[in-house]
Amino acid sequence: MIGEGSVLNWVREHRMHHKYSETNADPHNATRGFFFSHIGWLLVRKHPEINEKGHTIDLSDLWADPVLRFQKKYYLLLVPVACLIIPSYVPTLWGESLWNGYFVCAIFQFVFVLNITWLINSIGHKWGSKPYDKNINPVDIKPVSLVVLGEGFHNYHHTFPWDYKTAELGGYSLNFTKLFIDTMAKIGWAYDLKTVSTDVIKNRVQRTGDGSHKEWGYEEIHELSQEKIIQD
Ligand SMILES: [Zn+2]
Ligand SMILES: [Zn+2]
Repeated sequence: MIGEGSVLNWVREHRMHHKYSETNADPHNATRGFFFSHIGWLLVRKHPEINEKGHTIDLSDLWADPVLRFQKKYYLLLVPVACLIIPSYVPTLWGESLWNGYFVCAIFQFVFVLNITWLINSIGHKWGSKPYDKNINPVDIKPVSLVVLGEGFHNYHHTFPWDYKTAELGGYSLNFTKLFIDTMAKIGWAYDLKTVSTDVIKNRVQRTGDGSHKEWGYEEIHELSQEKIIQD
């Protein structure tokens, strides 16, 4: 619906973003500036190192999925249907004009959601705190978390990329994405969810954090949940 490329392409670029973070082989390398990491990377030819190192990314897990192969094969047909035609048409069911549907639910939605998503690559690599690893650029930033449905804990995500929560705490208020994955897990559509133990996080915070972990109130929240477990 948002035209961010097929899942197969998206995941390849995302895995490169983690493996070669903030080098020329990172598709939205934030060291090339705010504008480049936000939208500029989509306006210019890819850096040659991206093509050189692209083949080192293993996507066999995704290629094994027939739904993803279907989406990649018919992507150019699926995008106008899902991104323009359906959002424009649906509001006409309750009497809106087709033009209103087109400008608000298709075009505005498209521009707005893309820019919100890109915030993770631009602001999320620039202004905020680094509770887990002060030696990397990605930051944790609460206001961004609100609008990006749980992706704003980017310092955490780059430090522990295998944690499905993409955040230390499991609350849903700032993390709609986790709520979605948990719901899918309940009905069996998501499984083998990986996470990180509190001890591993604590050690890492002490070893490489910038000291802002306390300001976020994580310690108190952990103690409270620990007390609750004991009481229960
Ligand atoms: Zn990521
Ligand atoms: Zn990142």
